[in-house]
Amino acid sequence: MPYIDKLCRLCDQFGCEYRKNESLKNHTTFKIGGNARLLAEINSENTLLALLEFLKSNNIKFFVIGRGSNILADDNGFDGVILKIASSFSSMKKISDTDISCTAGTSLSELCIFAMENSLSGLEFAYGIPGTVGGALYMNAGAYGGEIKDVIASARYVYPDGKILIVEKEQMKLSYRHSIFSENRDMIITDMIFSLKPGKPDEIKSKMNELLQKRRDKQPLEYPSAGSTFKRPEGSYASLIIEECGLKGMSVGGAQVSEKHSGFVINKGGASFKEVIELTDRVREIVKEKTGYSLELEPIILK
Ligand SMILES: Cc1cc2nc3c(=O)[nH]c(=O)nc-3n(C[C@H](O)[C@H](O)[C@H](O)COP(=O)(O)OP(=O)(O)OC[C@H]3O[C@@H](n4cnc5c(N)ncnc54)[C@H](O)[C@@H]3O)c2cc1C
Repeated sequence: MPYIDKLCRLCDQFGCEYRKNESLKNHTTFKIGGNARLLAEINSENTLLALLEFLKSNNIKFFVIGRGSNILADDNGFDGVILKIASSFSSMKKISDTDISCTAGTSLSELCIFAMENSLSGLEFAYGIPGTVGGALYMNAGAYGGEIKDVIASARYVYPDGKILIVEKEQMKLSYRHSIFSENRDMIITDMIFSLKPGKPDEIKSKMNELLQKRRDKQPLEYPSAGSTFKRPEGSYASLIIEECGLKGMSVGGAQVSEKHSGFVINKGGASFKEVIELTDRVREIVKEKTGYSLELEPIILK
């Protein structure tokens, strides 16, 4: 029996949804990418461990995604298995006066709401960042002066060989869009504990809404994208530099430097991986020539 069929049987055993030859357009906010051989929606740590054991013992390539909000997938797709940490792998619990535990598939914005409802402050900055808490920890997501580093306490993760381990914040090597998990993609996050401070729900809510409104006002949320396309260079902002270089609105095929926010490359319709890469390469070249800044891509390339 081909490996894909064996994997489908395993998914059935664990009640985990899967799709063969699934387009990555359906699983990335950029709406770009070819097909994956199989996409399995991970609904628990046990499912993850079982699938990993199979994938490892059969030497099959895999890639973990959350909601795909920071992923740029190749037009040629992925010749392996996508393990999507799904919304079915989602739970949140208040475990002490200040701490919340949650599983990796929980939506980051839902966690923010849960914290607010439990009178806990610290996650306001994250409200409106798309994606899962697992993806947010991997990326050390941040906005408006806050980052995951400020609120994470510890995380539980698994290795493809079945080991389950805990890592404390101090060992996570968290810095701007970087973590120990981004250094080692074999570490798959399953659970996290966030440590917050007591606060007043109405004040927390009003801060969350204020920041969400800022996003709506400034970001081109009406188009598919992966958020900020370039990392913030030391001493400036990618959007500012790109705008100063006159590159707002520049496009290649369906990919365009947003006219609303020049830090975002958007998919104006039918953009391909190749077009996004061509556009971002051109932007980087011009920026380097005119300003000396070397811009780095923020989204993770899936190929
Ligand atoms: C409109 C828009 C606005 C955005 N605004 C912001 C912002 O303000 N600040 C910001 O920091 N980001 C922002 N982003 C980017 C993105 O939302 C974040 O990086 C988010 O945290 C990614 O979460 P995800 O679940 O979608 O991860 P994905 O994009 O699916 O994956 C990102 C990386 O994390 C890895 N990963 C995911 N889950 C796990 C897991 N459980 N274990 C191990 N590795 C894992 C993947 O392999 C991949 O390498 C924005 C994106 C969009 C589209």
